[in-house]
Amino acid sequence: MIANYHTHTPRCNHAEGAERDYIERALEAGFVELGFSDHTPYFFDKPDYYSTFRMRPEQLEDYVSTLLRLREEYKDRITLFIGLEAEYYPKLFPRLLDYIRQFPMDYLILGQHALYNETEGIFSPRPTEDERLLDQYQGQTMEALETGLFTYFAHPDLFQFTGDPKAYDRHVRAICRKAMDLSIPLEFNLLGYSEGKHYPDPAFWRIAGEEGCSVVLGSDAHSPKETWSPDLIAKAETLLAGFGIHPMERVTLRPIR
Ligand SMILES: [Zn+2]
Ligand SMILES: [Zn+2]
Repeated sequence: MIANYHTHTPRCNHAEGAERDYIERALEAGFVELGFSDHTPYFFDKPDYYSTFRMRPEQLEDYVSTLLRLREEYKDRITLFIGLEAEYYPKLFPRLLDYIRQFPMDYLILGQHALYNETEGIFSPRPTEDERLLDQYQGQTMEALETGLFTYFAHPDLFQFTGDPKAYDRHVRAICRKAMDLSIPLEFNLLGYSEGKHYPDPAFWRIAGEEGCSVVLGSDAHSPKETWSPDLIAKAETLLAGFGIHPMERVTLRPIR
């Protein structure tokens, strides 16, 4: 692992540590590239609703200007990229794009934390055996990938389906094929792996291997030390090799212009 594109900052209310500390940790790791992709702000259409796990729109300017300064300061040692981890909420996405296009945004990663437009309250990690929701997750994330705006798909196995394994296989295979067709890498999420969450889900990665998907490791760092964990990376690589997957070292970013 010589690059990580999944790094947070305290603006999302559930990460800690200064940007500089994440960068120093990446240098310690020998990374050549580090991308920040904090949880995007969003404009919700219910006045009394705002999710607590993302920055506010008015914080985006400080996020970008802080990283631009650090990019300049560290330019001889590491390449820094400015991105966001964003959900694809069909009704709200156009306004978000209009807003973030005012900033020099190097990339977006897709992290689909909720279905529909979030205000329906159906969150991807909540276990369900309802195949209609799995179907919605599949359709919504495939539509997201088709926009061509996402550089990669973070924790694509975030949706926790506890129903019929055959249904899971069918839906996951469709997502994997779509990502393949569009040359979009899937992220094996190291944070979920280290914390023993329901993802990474071996059932998902077996299918991704069979389908020949491109895969990238993502730290999903919410603290500087999580930027790089050599033992964890070695374990992940061994697991993935068992599915015939060899993660790519770098990804080609899709800038938002
Ligand atoms: Zn987070
Ligand atoms: Zn994340």
